[in-house]
Amino acid sequence: MQPSLSERFRSGFVAMTGHPNVGKSTLINRFLGQKIAAVSPRPQTTRRKQLGILTTVQAQIIFIDTPGIHKPRHKLGEAMNQQARDALEEADQVLFIVDASQPPTSEDHILARLIQEAKRQTITLVVLNKIDLIHADLLAERQAQFQDLLPEARVFPISATRGDNCPALLETLIAAMPEGPQYFPEEQITDLHERDIAVDLIREAALIFLREEVPHGIAVRLDEYKDRDEKTTYLAATLLLEREAHKPIVIGKNGAMLKRIGTSARKEIETMTGRKVFLELRVKVKKDWRDDEETIRKLGY
Ligand code: GDP
Ligand code: MG
Repeated sequence: MQPSLSERFRSGFVAMTGHPNVGKSTLINRFLGQKIAAVSPRPQTTRRKQLGILTTVQAQIIFIDTPGIHKPRHKLGEAMNQQARDALEEADQVLFIVDASQPPTSEDHILARLIQEAKRQTITLVVLNKIDLIHADLLAERQAQFQDLLPEARVFPISATRGDNCPALLETLIAAMPEGPQYFPEEQITDLHERDIAVDLIREAALIFLREEVPHGIAVRLDEYKDRDEKTTYLAATLLLEREAHKPIVIGKNGAMLKRIGTSARKEIETMTGRKVFLELRVKVKKDWRDDEETIRKLGY
């Protein structure tokens, strides 16, 4: 669509806030029409702040995908909470994303208060996601429950996986953006490099295949990332585990689990890069890496 001459270019930042697992990353991928953020059925796949950049003829919208705010149990958790608060302060608009399949949780109340207390008063939309999971009769009630949390905000029911109402939500965001410059070149869709996304995709694959007790104790360290030629990339990465006892689980019988994780991650990385990928995965125990500030910094959180 061509903008009319009187229409000026709009741009700005949208903070995606909400608890782990509500669908923030899924929604960003949906808006961009491309997978840039790791999506996982388990909470806390997204550990660092990531930008998703959407450029159209009329506007550039920069989505800030943040780790959710939660009760920090270790240093890594504290660093993640601070990133989430910073995103609220920087943004032109805030999307407070919630899960329609449950009534507001006590954590939703805490986050709603944080949004109201943010120094800058920004336009806030409550995105009621996963409406595909609830019966149509329940929708109005849910909408009212979440409206009570933030009476000033508009509540927007959507399904990020099915796409319901997502184009309308995007239009609303664009219309509310201030006039502004194009901050990033139009072909740039994220601020993370392919290698960072590869790390997240490997972590995502591990979270999908492993049992509950292991995943949060896993970090991924990229040891090598080399484009061999135009069409092939070689990657070597190490899964860092918190406990010796996790090693046999992650490796599996005759290495079967590690192979499954590697194959799945490799396919995702191939889709992202459009190249053939060779991925070598190793496993190493690094006790209590989550409380080790040095490790956290090296891994870029
Ligand atoms: P995040 O932690 O907020 O970034 O959440 P993710 O985007 O990683 O999504 C968490 C889980 O919810 C994944 O399994 C998604 O497939 C799922 N999910 C996200 N959006 C929807 C939705 O609209 N409907 C349903 N049924 N599931 C969704
Ligand atoms: Mg996420």
